[in-house]
Amino acid sequence: MDRKLLYEGKAKRIYSIPDKPGMYIQEFKDDATAFNGLKKEQIKNKGVLNASISTTIFRYLMQHGIPTHFVEKLSDTEMLVKKVKIVQVEVVCRNIAAGSLVKRYGFKEGTVMKQPIVEYYFKSDELGDPLFTEEHVFALELATADEMNLIKELTLKINGLLLKFFSERKLKLVDFKLEFGRDDGGNIILADEISPDTCRLWDSETNKKLDKDRFRFDLGGVEEAYEEINKRLS
Ligand code: UDP
Repeated sequence: MDRKLLYEGKAKRIYSIPDKPGMYIQEFKDDATAFNGLKKEQIKNKGVLNASISTTIFRYLMQHGIPTHFVEKLSDTEMLVKKVKIVQVEVVCRNIAAGSLVKRYGFKEGTVMKQPIVEYYFKSDELGDPLFTEEHVFALELATADEMNLIKELTLKINGLLLKFFSERKLKLVDFKLEFGRDDGGNIILADEISPDTCRLWDSETNKKLDKDRFRFDLGGVEEAYEEINKRLS
């Protein structure tokens, strides 16, 4: 398929397709970064594994009524997606304390939240993705109140669906990050990816970390962890 590189991010490339103006190709790379790009390496096979994992999860969410950008899987590392304009708000949803919930608020790692915590981060590499509130989102004119209500509602619905999906595969969904976009009609739909790069996933019995934290904190067995997730999902 004829294509033009539109955007290269830390873990993915996005291409436009001259013959299909309403679609993009999303390609998953082996590159991994952490701590705002300070730590940079390649994880063997990550592109293939994340494309497969993300495809499985997006198909599942769509079967349960979540609107997403996913159209079809094109190859080992590529998917065809609907063209969207990304809302510059990263939405994080947390069920169990880890990462910055431990660092910032003093929760003990592994503490189960009584209800999910939804947080918003300004998607800005220059500013280092600061935590912000809906009022900042409105002041910066990143999204309207109606759009933020819908984004929060979809996030909580996705959380419920994913908790069930992962627990059936003996995995705890600790936390995850979502990105939403506006399609050509201005509708808010789920975009980006859902993978061990963007979720914390622990084995239900042993609490073994099976996600990007293995890379962030040099725990070893990174590729094996992503392979294990892919195996449990397929
Ligand atoms: N996350 C992400 N991209 C980001 C920041 C966070 O995918 O730019 C995910 C991360 O993998 C985790 C969740 O969002 O599953 C919450 O991350 P946290 O804020 O704890 O990030 P930390 O600073 O600990 O990496």
